[in-house]
Amino acid sequence: MSFRATILTLYPDMFPGHLGHSLSGKALERGQWSLDTVQIRDFAEDKHRTVDDTPAGGGAGMVLRADILAKAIDHASMGDDRPRLLMSPRGKPLTQGRVRELAAGSGAIIVCGRFEGVDQRVIDGRQLEEVSIGDYILSGGEPAALTLLDAIVRILPGVMGNDLSGVHESFEGGLLEHPHYTRPQVFEGVEIPPVLTSGHHGEIEKWRQAEARRLTEERRPDLLRK
Ligand code: SAH
Repeated sequence: MSFRATILTLYPDMFPGHLGHSLSGKALERGQWSLDTVQIRDFAEDKHRTVDDTPAGGGAGMVLRADILAKAIDHASMGDDRPRLLMSPRGKPLTQGRVRELAAGSGAIIVCGRFEGVDQRVIDGRQLEEVSIGDYILSGGEPAALTLLDAIVRILPGVMGNDLSGVHESFEGGLLEHPHYTRPQVFEGVEIPPVLTSGHHGEIEKWRQAEARRLTEERRPDLLRK
């Protein structure tokens, strides 16, 4: 059974977006993962198909209504035990560890917020796991959902041409990745570090580990403390 994503959104046309291209797009065509979208607006009941309303207590913007979103979620998750996620800047920051867990499961139901966000009662009532992709604010959950899915899909079995290329990546060993080089041997007067062309695999591995450590200390000391 392959990974199946169901996206709840007001903008289904934004999917599969960039995931329809390159390796993830080929894997989608091959059926190595699948994607379906649910238009939240289809669950509105008035003739204008309204999905949002003004925030209780006042203030700027609009809030996605709990009743309409709950109906959309219930429709999408009927007889389904996939995790239910809500893209949200208040969520737990996404990590490669969580991506790996999700990729090992049968899929995910992903709710994309819009406006000021969604009514708290649907987050609680439908036990949505809030997931953030970083400490900044997007205008909607769609690019966040595409980002999350991108990270998941690329590690699904058989999606990347060379399955080993995922092993050494940044974060996988708790460190940032070492620098890369390729031809030409000299670029604007700068040579490839000689160890990399020496053919000594032990020395190369040592150099890479030292560089990974140096970069991590310099840029992300928080990763070393973990
Ligand atoms: N008023 C909210 C932000 C709403 S942004 C707040 O201050 O917390 C509108 C929608 O974009 C959110 O509901 C969420 O689905 C999505 N979004 C914005 N930034 C995000 C982020 N960093 N990670 C994940 N989703 C995000």
